[in-house]
Amino acid sequence: MKCPQCAKLVRLAKLEEYQVDGAQRYMKCTHCGAWLKNSKIALLGKGAAFYLAVIMLACGYWQWLEASISYPIAIIATILMFVLHLMDQLAVVDEPPKK
Ligand SMILES: [Zn+2]
Repeated sequence: MKCPQCAKLVRLAKLEEYQVDGAQRYMKCTHCGAWLKNSKIALLGKGAAFYLAVIMLACGYWQWLEASISYPIAIIATILMFVLHLMDQLAVVDEPPKK
C-alpha cells in the first residue's frame, strides 16, 4: 500500500510501529513517519464479500440453492470484493488513539 503523505510504498513487513484495534489498523510510515490508518469498512466489507462469494459458489456446486440464483450472487460478491479492494486506501491521521 502507498503512503498518501510521501507516496512511497509502505511495506507491512518493515513496519516498526503499528497498532491494531479490531479491524482498524494504525501504522507509522517508515519513510516519512506519518501515522496512517486503513479503511475499516473496506476491510470488513472485503471479508464479508469474500465469504459470501465462497458460500454462494458452494451452494451452486452442491445444489443447495438454484444455480441461477447462487452463481449471479457469487459473481456480484466477487466484483464487490474488487471494488472494495480498490477503495482500500490508507489515510493520514495525527496519531493513533491512546489505550
Ligand atoms: Zn510516508
